[in-house]
Amino acid sequence: MGRLHIKRITHANVQMPNSIEFQPVECTVVINAAGANSGKVAEMVGIGFGPQGMVEGTPIPVEPRKRYIYVVHCPHGPGMDTPFLVDYSGVYLRREGLGGNYITGLSPDEVEEPNSTNLDVDHDFFHEKIWPNLAHRVPAFECLKVTSAWAGFYDYNTFDQNGLLGIHHQVRNMYFATGFSGHGLQQSPAIGRAMAELILDGSYQTLNLSALDVKRIFYEEPLLEKNIV
Ligand SMILES: Cc1cc2nc3c(=O)[nH]c(=O)nc-3n(C[C@H](O)[C@H](O)[C@H](O)COP(=O)(O)OP(=O)(O)OC[C@H]3O[C@@H](n4cnc5c(N)ncnc54)[C@H](O)[C@@H]3O)c2cc1C
Repeated sequence: MGRLHIKRITHANVQMPNSIEFQPVECTVVINAAGANSGKVAEMVGIGFGPQGMVEGTPIPVEPRKRYIYVVHCPHGPGMDTPFLVDYSGVYLRREGLGGNYITGLSPDEVEEPNSTNLDVDHDFFHEKIWPNLAHRVPAFECLKVTSAWAGFYDYNTFDQNGLLGIHHQVRNMYFATGFSGHGLQQSPAIGRAMAELILDGSYQTLNLSALDVKRIFYEEPLLEKNIV
């Protein structure tokens, strides 16, 4: 790698709710934890616009990917006997309360990625891709009714579908805690603690999360997550 042009962020322009103005807020450290928007926030400080193959030219590979959750009512379903189920097809299911309700979903194949510029729900996706697999695995689900559905954006790390943590090589006071690719909620207590240690103590103290260091994108060393649902 060539000589790196080191940068530091001195302030962030913050827009408060109900305001049209951006106010500069001085800072010593910035944490890019902007979820699905993290790649775009990194672009705001110029990350990814340098020569290709160099740190400056390597974008933060996190982008929004739309995922659907469907709530179904199945009066004769397994109820309290329902484990958290992940079928071989990738369809997942869990019980939602005690009234015969369940939530289910599936990540689409790479080639079928839906348009991620809106949060519209594709109901055909449930009928064509989820329901047949669900009913095959648990025949009681042959009889169900979709009662509601919603869509959200996965904070999808296109490089290896795992979290990206730690300080950026070029922008030396920008830390990353992003790219959790649909499993960020369950990791969040550990991530919060480890990031606090990294920033306040300068290194991980109780949890060594260095395997998730953002530098692996510069060295092209993926830590591939295979079990994404
Ligand atoms: C349908 C769906 C199902 C999921 N199911 C699970 C699950 O079962 N288990 C699990 O562990 N995870 C699950 N996830 C993933 C989980 O929700 C995310 O990984 C997690 O929310 C990531 O947390 P975060 O704090 O990094 O980002 P987020 O929760 O996305 O928070 C990012 C924040 O940054 C803010 N922001 C963005 N841009 C800017 C900006 N320019 N300036 C200021 N603020 C900004 C946003 O408003 C937001 O508040 C699911 C996600 C989806 C969409």
